[in-house]
Amino acid sequence: PKANGKYTVTLIPGDGIGPEISKAVEEIYDAAKVPIDWEPVDVTPSLINGITTIPKPAVDSIYKNTVALKGPLATPVGKGHQSLNLTLRRTLGLFANVRPCKSVEGYETPYQNVDTVLIRENTEGEYSGIEHVIVPGVVQSIKLITKKASTRVIKYAFEYARANNRPKVLVVHKCSIMKMSDGLFVKTAREVAKEYPDIELGFEILDNTALRLASDPSHFKSLVMVMPNLYGDILSDLSSGLIGGLGLTPSGNMGEKVAIFEAVHGSAPDIAGKGLANPTALLLSSCMMLRHMGLNPYGDKIESAVLKTIASSPANRTRDLKGTASTEHFTQAVISNL
Ligand code: NAD
Repeated sequence: PKANGKYTVTLIPGDGIGPEISKAVEEIYDAAKVPIDWEPVDVTPSLINGITTIPKPAVDSIYKNTVALKGPLATPVGKGHQSLNLTLRRTLGLFANVRPCKSVEGYETPYQNVDTVLIRENTEGEYSGIEHVIVPGVVQSIKLITKKASTRVIKYAFEYARANNRPKVLVVHKCSIMKMSDGLFVKTAREVAKEYPDIELGFEILDNTALRLASDPSHFKSLVMVMPNLYGDILSDLSSGLIGGLGLTPSGNMGEKVAIFEAVHGSAPDIAGKGLANPTALLLSSCMMLRHMGLNPYGDKIESAVLKTIASSPANRTRDLKGTASTEHFTQAVISNL
């Protein structure tokens, strides 16, 4: 913290509904007297030597503050631009994507009491971007798995399990088919596990995990799943579906030096500027951020106010949760529940 006891956090308001949901977070933080000063930055990229580049002041701000909260970013339309989210992950070395999915009381889905945590390797695997045409009609795409990236994400999963009282790490893989690449991920997990004798280690084939998540997610309550990039991408959206969709799901992108917390959903251009956006996912992401910063009492207070508001009545829920509230009405209801 600074001399005045406050922390500075970089804020990337984002595109589409981003500014509306970021404003909701700022209002609720003011009301909850969270000791944070926001430092808003613009991440509109430029194309430098054909490479999508994030403005230096934004990158500097994130490195200086080490923590950022990010609204959704629309990938710029136009030739040559890479996904800005991918660019941010690469530029800042955000190697682990953490996605907890917990049932929201008062918002019914076919599943009750879901409480899963999925950690996805965020930098390699099928998303390495190494693809080429061998001859017309034949394309090769390389899945890259390294011991270095596997070690750091698996270690992170063990640390997370320990810090959050989840006694088991479950490694999800397909090493029955991809014997060498997923084989290395699995082998690395066995090695890393030796440093964590207090945490149980388990393995499961990807398709079995998908089946069990969809049939009875209660099996995943006391464990942390960790897996290579593509599997994590798919299973984390499956997990979001269990609790009612992307509008409710928070996430954290963790790096060696910095961490960026963000809602899982996109910029929702169809409802942008209409005052209809649900700020819940960004708010819950910000609660993960507060816990990451050791400001747990504030995170707990805001999270319970959000959940209480959602459970209170359809009049206090936004349209995506079958309610009638505007973003501003929801925000005020959360403030009154703090
Ligand atoms: P989206 O998540 O923006 O929207 C899907 C649907 O969900 C829309 O009907 C939208 O109105 C609704 N929705 C999403 N968030 C909501 C919220 N908070 N409250 C109420 N309704 C909500 O997905 P999309 O339309 O495929 O993508 C739009 C843009 O967002 C694209 O440019 C895409 O690249 C980008 N995107 C960014 C991120 C990110 O920054 N992490 C993630 C996904 C997509």
